[in-house]
Amino acid sequence: MRIAMIGTGYVGLVSGVCFSDFGHDVICVDKDPNKIEMLERGEVPIYEPGLDVLMAKNVEAGRLTFTGDLKQAVDGADAVFIAVGTPTRRGDGHADLTYVFAAAEEIAEAVTDYTVVVTKSTVPVGTNRQVKQVIRKVKPDLDFDVASNPEFLREGAAIDDFMRPDRVVVGVQTDRAADVMAEIYRPLFLREFPIITTDLESAEMIKYAANAFLATKITFINEIATLCEKTGADVKQVSKGMGLDGRIGNKFLHAGPGYGGSCFPKDTKALARIGQDYAVPMQITEAVIKVNEEMKRRMIDKIVDLCGGSVNGLTIAVLGVTFKPNTDDMRDAPSLTIVPSLIGGGAKVRVVDPQGLREGKDLLPGAHWVDDAYKAVQNADCVVLLTEWNEFRGLDLKRVANRMQTARMADLRNIYTLKDAQRAGFEGYVSVGRQGTE
Ligand code: NAD
Repeated sequence: MRIAMIGTGYVGLVSGVCFSDFGHDVICVDKDPNKIEMLERGEVPIYEPGLDVLMAKNVEAGRLTFTGDLKQAVDGADAVFIAVGTPTRRGDGHADLTYVFAAAEEIAEAVTDYTVVVTKSTVPVGTNRQVKQVIRKVKPDLDFDVASNPEFLREGAAIDDFMRPDRVVVGVQTDRAADVMAEIYRPLFLREFPIITTDLESAEMIKYAANAFLATKITFINEIATLCEKTGADVKQVSKGMGLDGRIGNKFLHAGPGYGGSCFPKDTKALARIGQDYAVPMQITEAVIKVNEEMKRRMIDKIVDLCGGSVNGLTIAVLGVTFKPNTDDMRDAPSLTIVPSLIGGGAKVRVVDPQGLREGKDLLPGAHWVDDAYKAVQNADCVVLLTEWNEFRGLDLKRVANRMQTARMADLRNIYTLKDAQRAGFEGYVSVGRQGTE
């Protein structure tokens, strides 16, 4: 199959590389010339473990190319995937579909033969039908179908998620489009990964419903964590006891500083808006959005309390600023709320993150970047563990405590325990939802 992938971000590039690894001929397009130049030089513009090796392998095999010329890419393609961003629209919380419709118009202008235009971006219910109208308007006689193929990969584990998915969802209107999609995903079908074929609207809804459910699960345990702190229960034990129930499951039950990232915040907001538009308020999702915002504020209070009521004049080391480990993505990361608030409170903030610097340096003005956790804590008054990168999971806590001016730790990922901290000489330790005495 010949595939054109519009957008070489976290989803487009991973999907394009993986499709080429399935044996398809893939051309990835981006309107950002810097990205295309990097890709043509063999460099990966994002950090995603394993992507560089898989990309090089498929470029070498002649199955994967990059271009800024959309017309050249889509002409003759069996399927054209739209994998552009759908950020929150300023002002109203809706998904901004400008990039999707612009891509659809450009595709319509360039395509001459039958093709399937597949939306991989996360889009509200009804968008694929609108994409169809956009294309029809530009080229009324074009023979084409649209398909909805939402993506469920997680940054940091994207290749494995794409190659070994829990399921693939394909929304179509015709058998012809279903056949093209089945051919594209044939390698997964042969390995018996579930491929669910639905109508367009259901496929679009599955993606929002899944993300809102996961955001709810995280927020639920975070709220329980707050109650644990007041009642003397330990949220880690509570999560374990809950998660062993097969109906609940243990994933997404880790208490922390609140969800962030490129998907949950914007997708929950978009679902809430869709509900309002249809006069079916998504009350649970709306509560989740509110509680998650409060959760980030609570983390700031926790740090300030640990520091004796004020951070003014103190040096604080923040370990990890990306929204989760194994990615360089900073979109809606809790650090973007927490770090500026500490700086605003008069603290000198040193940050360290294995991959966050490139994106983060402009997003966290006033923060001092260092390249090592032990340098970050030198003479500091508090260390905040914010993103659980592996290198922060096995810190020599004695070494950390010895280097600090005042050894205090806010462990917002529950990596360590009060006992660990006390043994290492910390005089203050807080975590999320625990007394930390285990
Ligand atoms: P991204 O911002 O990383 O990448 C989007 C890319 O599209 C950019 O490189 C941009 O330059 C390019 N682009 C925009 N308009 C274009 C056009 N007309 N022609 C060519 N290129 C164009 O976005 P992302 O994180 O990859 O997300 C893409 C979509 O996938 C979103 O709808 C998102 O919700 C969804 N999604 C993301 C993830 C994730 O983990 N990031 C997971 C599942 C689904």
